[in-house]
Amino acid sequence: MDEKIYRGIGASPGIVIGRAYLLDRRKVVVAGQRIGEVNVKDEVACFKKAVEVSKAQLEELKKRLSKDLGKSHIYILETLIMLLEDKMLIDSTVKRIKESLLNAEGALKGTITVIAQKFDAIEDEYLRGRKHDVEQIGERIMRNLVGHKQESLAEIGNEAVVIAHDLAPTDTLVMRKDKILAFATDAGSRTSHTAILARSLGIPAAVGLNKITEAVKTGDVVIVDGIHGVVVVSPEEETFLDFLKKQRRYKYFEQELDKLRELPAETLDGHVVHLQGNIELPDEVMSVVEHGGTGIGLYRTEFLFLDRPKLPTEEEHYNAYRQVAEKAAPQEVVIRTFDVGGDKIGLMDNFEKEANPALGLRAIRFSLYKKDIFKTQLRGILRATVHGNIKLLYPMISGIPELHEAKKVLDEVKQELRNEGIAFDEQVKVGIMIEIPSAAMISDLLAVEVDFFSVGTNDLIQYTLAIDRQNEHVAYLYEPLDPAVLRLLKQVSAAAHHARIPLAMCGEMAGDPLYAAILLGLGFDHLSMNVASIPWVKKVVRSVRMYDAVELAQLIMQQPTAALARKTAETFVQERFPDIAAEL
Ligand code: PEP
Ligand code: MG
Repeated sequence: MDEKIYRGIGASPGIVIGRAYLLDRRKVVVAGQRIGEVNVKDEVACFKKAVEVSKAQLEELKKRLSKDLGKSHIYILETLIMLLEDKMLIDSTVKRIKESLLNAEGALKGTITVIAQKFDAIEDEYLRGRKHDVEQIGERIMRNLVGHKQESLAEIGNEAVVIAHDLAPTDTLVMRKDKILAFATDAGSRTSHTAILARSLGIPAAVGLNKITEAVKTGDVVIVDGIHGVVVVSPEEETFLDFLKKQRRYKYFEQELDKLRELPAETLDGHVVHLQGNIELPDEVMSVVEHGGTGIGLYRTEFLFLDRPKLPTEEEHYNAYRQVAEKAAPQEVVIRTFDVGGDKIGLMDNFEKEANPALGLRAIRFSLYKKDIFKTQLRGILRATVHGNIKLLYPMISGIPELHEAKKVLDEVKQELRNEGIAFDEQVKVGIMIEIPSAAMISDLLAVEVDFFSVGTNDLIQYTLAIDRQNEHVAYLYEPLDPAVLRLLKQVSAAAHHARIPLAMCGEMAGDPLYAAILLGLGFDHLSMNVASIPWVKKVVRSVRMYDAVELAQLIMQQPTAALARKTAETFVQERFPDIAAEL
């Protein structure tokens, strides 16, 4: 087969050569057919067999995963297994085969449609959302009926490079990390969820490859270069050897960086920067420590809400936060209240689809809309404050009234806990994410109201430049060094320093070594990033003087275009850190 090269976006660094596993997420196309009376028995038997096989697959999956995952993720499988015994689903399908003389596929499809309609009519939005479970189980039975393979990352047997149109956040919950060598997806951009996830798991990935799923079959040899976003399908010998060399060099460089682990992130002239990790699951804390990070600068808690039949209880919140706080202590953990919506699926599934989810009811807006859910989370966080060094962070604050409302809810929750005699840290620090241009522009007004800022560049850039961070077609416009973005960053920095509050950045920009010196020069004292980037950024920090960083930032600020700013930044890195530049 001929070699083919695809270029997308480098989402998570590393070079991998392996066999492809094509994750086929297309729905099974169902051929509903009339059958004769004589075929009824066979069709019923086929259907029952498919149900049994589905049950066996899920039981097996449950057994396998209960070793790797906690109980909290297992009951989603239990819910699905229970559905396979549900009369509404199983008996109605059998009845439909017999009475309507339909083949098993057609009958099952009819049953699922009827059940889905019933769910749609339910008032309770939570129950209504369970429609998804029924559809998921219907798809599984259907695949078994027509002999399609089940497509879940949990079921990958051998080590493989996963090729998919896109991956859902929930894929990570069942993913066998040891089996997945790399990802390559049609969709996505550097700051899409799949990309962030790949980096946090340390799995090399290329995204935004457009049509890679059409070019690859399971079993093909593929090379994924997650640094440059290149995927080679069926490489020729010369290409293969070339990438093998690059892979070796990259590994060697990573080992060199590893030597910095125990050393402080301190500039040549003694200025200390806090390099921290972004995490999504409590298990990731150790990885931050192993990569030389000092604390968790962003704990994205929406993962507690994903793909589960019930909302997390206060106890579940508390246990997760306590675990993270204890593991990270004495270092700090910045817990962000949930940011559901936009690119993250979850609770929003239960609501009507929004035309513009990124501009819709998400993050703090959702929390203030559903105060009971918000309060449960705040209680869990406050209770956990006695077990470590926890700070609270609100996402997507757009102005003062929203902040005041969030503060009011927090005060109410604190009072409730006091009344109940439950201990918490009365001095818990509260910060806000600056990720909406309006917040950046009034950062002076906000700075005097909060204990710290954390700039979320993933969203700030998306909203400032009007670029959907999920859309691979406009990903080329997504530019952290755009003069408009840089001016906002400078404004936020000035406001934070004037109010004498710490200034953090936790967007992906913070983890790119190309920007590290600029961010120091702009006055960021905390940079929180995916764990794999910590050693790279530390290398830059340890090799510059603050004076040079400030000078570089000033030079960058004078550039009229992002392209010129980028050129200036690249020249700086090439001159100062030729070894890093070679790997970028
Ligand atoms: C950001 O917007 O930069 C950020 C860190 O938040 P998220 O990526 O979770 O939206
Ligand atoms: Mg954000």
